[in-house]
Amino acid sequence: MAIYPIRTFGDPVLRMVTKPIVDIDPTVRTLAQDMIETMYDAPGVGLAANQIGISRRIAVFDPQDERGPRVMINPEIIETSGEIELDEGCLSVPGHWWEIARPAFARVRALDLDGKEVEHAGDGLLGRVLQHEIGHLDGGLLIDALPKRLRKKALKDLRDEALGLA
Ligand SMILES: [Zn+2]
Repeated sequence: MAIYPIRTFGDPVLRMVTKPIVDIDPTVRTLAQDMIETMYDAPGVGLAANQIGISRRIAVFDPQDERGPRVMINPEIIETSGEIELDEGCLSVPGHWWEIARPAFARVRALDLDGKEVEHAGDGLLGRVLQHEIGHLDGGLLIDALPKRLRKKALKDLRDEALGLA
């Protein structure tokens, strides 16, 4: 087991669309375990592989619902409904939180570590985490979900911070 450093805003790997996983081999199982450990160590409620520099379509999450950590391989959102604004942060954009509007409910189809097709669905923190992590796997970041004006300000703040101006 290993804890990986988490890549942060500005690292190009976060903006690359991840590649699907073809074989769920022991390497993938080890990666999933390491990602879970890295997520808890951070601490966070979700982690996508590209956040630790591995551009593969796998994410882990634990929305603190006492069902424990879950792994989703090659996940796709198949249904969303409603809309809700929630305070949202990201391990790759540490120290920042934004009120972000997204669908309240999400249903995701993915493979588990046995290669079996599973669905994850819910609202609240679960619905939000599912959308947030799949956003990462598609090369997205939470600020992409902000309205244009707020997104511009967020980008300026993050650039200033990176340059040591903030
Ligand atoms: Zn994130």
